[in-house]
Amino acid sequence: MNTPGRRFGRAVVIGGSMAGLLSARVLADHFEKVVLLERDPRPEGPVPRKGVPQGSHIHVLLDSGRRVLDRFFPDLFQHLQEQGAQLIDSSGDVAWHHFDVWKPRYTSGIPLLLCTRTLLEWNVLRRVVALPNVELRDGYSVEGLLTDTARQRVTGVQLKSPGGEEPLEAELVVDASGRGSRAPQWLEALGYGRPEEEQVGVDLAYTSGLYEPPANFGGEWSALMQYPAPPSTWRSGFIGSVEGGRWLVTLNGYFGEHAPTEHEGFLDFARALPRPDFHAYLRDAKPLGPLTTHKVKHNRWRHYERMARFPEGLALLGDAVCAFNPVFGQGMSVAGLGAELLHECLCEHAQRSPGELEGMAERFRKRLPGILRLPWFVSTSLDLQYPQATGQRMPGLGLLHWYIRRLLERTSRDTAVHAQFNRMLHLQAGLGAVLQPSVSLPVLAHGVRTLFVPLRDLANTDTLPLHSRSEPG
Ligand SMILES: Cc1cc2nc3c(=O)[nH]c(=O)nc-3n(C[C@H](O)[C@H](O)[C@H](O)COP(=O)(O)OP(=O)(O)OC[C@H]3O[C@@H](n4cnc5c(N)ncnc54)[C@H](O)[C@@H]3O)c2cc1C
Repeated sequence: MNTPGRRFGRAVVIGGSMAGLLSARVLADHFEKVVLLERDPRPEGPVPRKGVPQGSHIHVLLDSGRRVLDRFFPDLFQHLQEQGAQLIDSSGDVAWHHFDVWKPRYTSGIPLLLCTRTLLEWNVLRRVVALPNVELRDGYSVEGLLTDTARQRVTGVQLKSPGGEEPLEAELVVDASGRGSRAPQWLEALGYGRPEEEQVGVDLAYTSGLYEPPANFGGEWSALMQYPAPPSTWRSGFIGSVEGGRWLVTLNGYFGEHAPTEHEGFLDFARALPRPDFHAYLRDAKPLGPLTTHKVKHNRWRHYERMARFPEGLALLGDAVCAFNPVFGQGMSVAGLGAELLHECLCEHAQRSPGELEGMAERFRKRLPGILRLPWFVSTSLDLQYPQATGQRMPGLGLLHWYIRRLLERTSRDTAVHAQFNRMLHLQAGLGAVLQPSVSLPVLAHGVRTLFVPLRDLANTDTLPLHSRSEPG
């Protein structure tokens, strides 16, 4: 879609992390001026910062997110690769044990970005602040919304900085301030009430650190993932090759079973993963610094789209609206897809109502759930297999869990089934990809066979597979 040009005055974005940066990039095509407000001081380089405590932990970028970033920053991936990031094949270069089976390794053609979160965000930040009409005001915290006297339209934000408080007027305010967004309180104070909130509690913690790979590591994989088989196991491990020839190692556990932050205990935690491979690799790696922990209590979706009344001129996206259990690496991609939707809404609105913004944010609010439903489903339906997970369970969930388990087992030796599952995981295709007959029939047949044949005869439960270099069958 062609961008209709800068038709509006000033937009303000709250939060300078991935959702905020991508929003600012998109708005820069439509507004004369975009002010990006970030509470943290601007980082000097790709280093962790207080406002993004998850930044030291493994972050992969799914293909849907890669596509959005590539669209808005065409030179980004080449520069990231020059700095040591890798675009790997999401099946061929990843050894992934999940639900007691190894996934097949073949060239899927679906890339996955591997680098530290700080390197990615830093490169995006540099590009956004280089735009002539974007101004980053770091060290500024947004404390509330400004409205017109009838409180029907948001007209800006109230800012706090070391210099004091000040108002900042805007035609559009985008809240991308993450899980800690105070929009529910702000809306309530304005008389709109709070959004309904859906939560699936997991009490998960990530513990991560950088390591030097063992001297004898032969590069058998770029990422090694060992995920649990709910409901009986709940520890995961992830080793990703990141820039600087290092490994970023993350261990996590659900329901209070959290990995320790001292190296010996961390290694012991890895010993109890479902397969011994992870521990064997980690045992010979050398820690390069301290381990850090970050807790994720729940998946949370704030249903702004269900609010009967909502002020004009306010849009929300990213974790501020929907924050997932991060084990499937969806958050940044979903933030990107949200920013892309904002761009589309602005373009479409320009055709319908040239020169005015009335109704644009409303349309965006109603359409955003179309992006959120699939990743929410992927994340929560797997979490709800644990009886300890809190949250609403829909009728028929047991059947769904049976199907998911058989699907994941079947992926082990059926690259065609795996290819469809992988497309869904990367948010390239919806649920239909794993329910279509070419997938569901083999999965159901597999389900029947498991009643008579041991799983190890139907799927690879034991050996870490090597990359076969074949295409999906
Ligand atoms: C442990 C962990 C691992 C993850 N792994 C992955 C992964 O592998 N892949 C993936 O895609 N995603 C992953 N995610 C999710 C990902 O980090 C987020 O979805 C992504 O950062 C988008 O978030 P956001 O920009 O909406 O919010 P955040 O990243 O939380 O950023 C919010 C920003 O707003 C600023 N801010 C907050 N309040 C104010 C205010 N009042 N005024 C001004 N500024 C404010 C903060 O300082 C911060 O910079 C992971 C998350 C966690 C917790």
